[in-house]
This record gives sequence, C-alpha cells and structure tokens, in this order.
Amino acid sequence: MATDSHSELRPASLVIHGGQAPEVTTGAVMPPIFQTSTYVQPALGEPHGEYDYARVANPTRERLEASFQILEGGEDGIAFASGMAAIEAVLLLLSAGDHVICEDNVYGGTQRLFRQVFEKFGIAFEFVDTRDPDRVAAALTPKTKLVFVETPTNPMMRITPIAAIAELAHGVGALLCVDNTFASPINQRPIDLGADIVVHSTTKYLNGHSDVIGGAAITRTVDLGERLRFIRKCSGAVPGPWDCWLCLRGIKTLHIRIERHNQNGGAIAEYLQARSDIEDVHYPGLPSHPQHELARSQMMGFGGMVSFELGSPARARTFSEATRIFQLAESLGGVESLVGVPAIMTHASVPEDKRAELGVTEGLVRLSVGIEAIEDLVEDLDRAFSML
Ligand SMILES: *Cc1c(COP(=O)(O)O)cnc(C)c1O
Repeated sequence: MATDSHSELRPASLVIHGGQAPEVTTGAVMPPIFQTSTYVQPALGEPHGEYDYARVANPTRERLEASFQILEGGEDGIAFASGMAAIEAVLLLLSAGDHVICEDNVYGGTQRLFRQVFEKFGIAFEFVDTRDPDRVAAALTPKTKLVFVETPTNPMMRITPIAAIAELAHGVGALLCVDNTFASPINQRPIDLGADIVVHSTTKYLNGHSDVIGGAAITRTVDLGERLRFIRKCSGAVPGPWDCWLCLRGIKTLHIRIERHNQNGGAIAEYLQARSDIEDVHYPGLPSHPQHELARSQMMGFGGMVSFELGSPARARTFSEATRIFQLAESLGGVESLVGVPAIMTHASVPEDKRAELGVTEGLVRLSVGIEAIEDLVEDLDRAFSML
C-alpha cells in the first residue's frame, strides 16, 4: 500500500493520490517540507541512501515529480525552478551543429531563449507553422534532433497535430517535445500521442494559484529522464521544497479546477462569438475554430484561454483597463481571471513583423478565464464592452 503509485486511478483521483503514499516516519497524509540543503552521512563516503545534497535529491520534490510523471503518463518527471528552466534543460540535450524545428507561435520567452541564448552556441532554429505536417516534413533535415511545439498556442490557440508530428520527427531520429502548459494533463496527454518529452510552466494551471514559479519535464523513457536529471544536477535549476509543496497542494484540485476552466472558458468564448462588435474569437472548443475537429480528437477539454480581436490598439487598451474582475496582468492558469494585450505584454519581445504575421496585433485581447461564477465574469465583460 505505501509504495502503491495508484496509476490505475481515474484523473480526478489521480491528481490527489497519484504517486502519493503516507510519509514513512509518522504516517503524515501530506508530505513534510524537507527544508534542508544537506543530509548527514553515517560514515565517510556513505550517504543516507540517495540523499547527500539537495540540489541532487529532496524528498518533497520527489513527491511532486511522482505526481507529474503519473499525470502525464511518462516514465519520469523532473521538477525545475521555472518553465523556462525546464525548456532550457531540454535544449541542453543538444550539441553544436544540431538543428531544431520550433512551432512559429510558441511562448515569447521560448523564442527569446532559442534565438538569443542557444543560437550563439551553434544550434540552428527553424520556426515553422507546425499546424501543417507538410511544412514540418519539408523543414526536417538529417541534422534535426528536436521538434519543439506548443499546442494550443499562446495567444492564437493554434493546434499542432501531435501524433502526426511525432511520427515525422521519429522518422529522422529527432525527439518531439510538447509544451503542454495551456492544456494541462487533464485536457491533453502528449506522451499518449507519441511525444518524447512534455514540458510545463507549472506556474500556470498545475500550481493554479498564481503564487509559485515552477517548471516540469516528463519523459517517455527512463533514459531521457536520466539525461535531464543529470543536466539539472549539473546546472542546478531546482525548485525549493516549499515551492514544490505548494505546487503539489495545487495539483490536488487540478481536475476540479480544469473542469470549471473548461466550462467557463467555453461559455465566455460563446458569449464573445455572439457579439457583433468583435472580429475574431480564438478558442479551440468553438466549432468555428478552423482546427476544431483536430482539437476534439487530441484534447479532452479546451481550457480557459480565449483571445479575440477588438480591431484597434485603443479599443484593446480601453477594454483591458475597464474590467474589474478580470485583472490586467501577465500569466495565466490561476483560479482568478486575468486580461492582457499580448502584443504589449507577453509577446513584446517578439519582433513586430513576426507578430503581424502571426496575427498578434495590438488589438488582440487575451483572457485567462478563472473559476469564478460565470455570471460575474459575463457582467464584468459587459461592463468593459459598454466603455468602448
Ligand atoms: C509561462 C510559460 C512558459 C514559461 O514558464 P515560466 O514558469 O514563466 O518560466 C513557457 N511556456 C508557456 C506556454 C508559458 O505559458
């Protein structure tokens, strides 16, 4: 019982029990916070089991990692100090001369890391619209070692066909890494669809309470997990035990939160689509989304992220400053609703011509729909629209 990982449970139970056994010393139902940097050695050169130094191993962190691994259905889960640290570790698997294909519309910070940090170490990046497998096939070379996608994307909600891209990547011996931050493992499990690595900014839905920065990488194989653990041990981007404990606490309610995010996100998308003063609404759960059928085939729900085009920077500014419940802030995935203008906030580091190409205009508003009462959220949006 104490070592049972409960991996057979349904998702709503898995978030609570997956990989979690009572603590051995006291039977504590919740894991202790092992707030220590080092561990005593019983004799010279003989650490206590696997614990000698906390950059390498910490029991609170291991609890969180067991949860990541089971929720995504991988062989290993590794916790990082941030989502960017997890993505950095994946890139550190590569060598100079390697070629990477990256979805065109990935998170702005990911593009910045690739273009401004890794390119100078001799890794070549090609940014491609991965919605279309033919474009990915055309970009693959014998040097391609990694295909990196995010689906749905931020903020245009583009969908990449994970299974098709996994097959193409594997055809040239490349790995497929999926940033699953927007969907969460409740709405999408990329490893089941063929991905080799899943990364998360746990700062968002997994922790869910906007009070921790964290990241995760989950691997299809034990070997990939070991390689990422080695990188983390060497480079040191570890989360502290307190942050791990908070994230694990957040995950207990992940399923019930995502259920409500899905409901509220869908309701807000329909509300927006019904208005005549909006140009486009981007939400994969809407039948009008150009990839709705694909989204339905690889996702279990469509989440709380919605973006829409107000047509001008002035209207976007007025709107995003007029809401009272939707707070003007970066980030997403918390219980509270947020509003933002990606071109000026999260995507400010993306070059202007690139933004224009993607449709990330200064009139595009993004909502992270929280789990509040839907009536309050709709009333808040009504009020903001009345100010335009
Ligand atoms: C926020 C975010 C990241 C970066 O994560 P941090 O925890 O902020 O380092 C990466 N990918 C996506 C999709 C994100 O939303």
